[in-house]
Amino acid sequence: MMTSKPAEKGSATTSTTAPAAGSTSGSAPRDGAILIDGKRLSEEIRAKLAERVQQVKASGRSVRLDAVLVGDDNSAGIYAENQAKACQVIGIEYIRHQLPASSSFDTIANLIQSLNADDRVCGLMVHLPLPEGVDAERIQSLIAPEKDVEGMNPANIGNVVYGRRSLVPCTALATLEMIEWTKTTLRGAHCVIVGASNIVGKPIAVLLMRAEATVVSCNKYTRELGPLTRAADILISAAGVPNLIRADMVKPGAVVIDVGINRIKGSDGKPHTVGDVAFDEVSRIAGYLSPVPGGVGPMTVVMLLRNTVEAACRG
Ligand code: NAD
Repeated sequence: MMTSKPAEKGSATTSTTAPAAGSTSGSAPRDGAILIDGKRLSEEIRAKLAERVQQVKASGRSVRLDAVLVGDDNSAGIYAENQAKACQVIGIEYIRHQLPASSSFDTIANLIQSLNADDRVCGLMVHLPLPEGVDAERIQSLIAPEKDVEGMNPANIGNVVYGRRSLVPCTALATLEMIEWTKTTLRGAHCVIVGASNIVGKPIAVLLMRAEATVVSCNKYTRELGPLTRAADILISAAGVPNLIRADMVKPGAVVIDVGINRIKGSDGKPHTVGDVAFDEVSRIAGYLSPVPGGVGPMTVVMLLRNTVEAACRG
């Protein structure tokens, strides 16, 4: 078991094993937040998943993820390459289906239907963006719920609400996994989520409600975020706005999960990736804080792998 380092004044502290359990409610201000290291946590989960993949294969089942890409979007291509590598490392077969940018709705839909019907395919996902005029939500809804490893099918979202066993959107799973790592008691905790998209903010809210937390969902029309976020034992930001969450918006000792991924120009003139949380100042007041990069991002990738293994086990 790895141990947590003592807090360093004024900066977040790295730790791979959750420190003392318990609710953050009412806890005293700390000298520095404990870092929720998504990269290291994801590596631990990945190692366990690799063992699970071997077990599933030994039982004669395939473990395979199929990804559909349409057109030549650079970011989607890089994301797909990283996925392929991540799958390969733990023994998941990865098949990429590349369609031309000129593909129609029907062409993409036909490919999805044929992959739905193919027993060798365990997990199936469609990379965004899709060509202009092709409704991404409609395409994603065509993925069979039992293969829908990104949890985009309305049937899976419905199952999340009802608390039934289903494939849950990966970023929401990642966020919950990171909160659980802190051993913070969810029942009765006051949770505030900034950002309410269908794929990130809303599923996180539902999972927290299922854990019997008190949940406040904020969006860009929310008046006065500060008084709401300052009351949060657990604060999650998934808005896509750099520096949205400042130190004076955070309750001392709170768990802060930064889901945002924003590309900004740094003081050195070079592009940098940052989250929604003003990291340096919030790390002085929060109890736990996830960094960007190296926080929710790598955890989301590993949750996709976990959903694929889960889909394979059910198949
Ligand atoms: P989205 O644009 O679909 O939704 C953004 C949400 O934030 C909306 O509900 C909007 O009303 C709200 N919002 C925007 N500005 C706000 C403000 N000033 N105050 C309060 N609420 C505000 O985005 P999304 O797809 O949900 O992604 C959100 C962020 O999370 C983005 O930065 C995205 O890159 C990131 N993201 C990260 C991961 C990951 O793996 N870490 C995965 C998915 C998305």
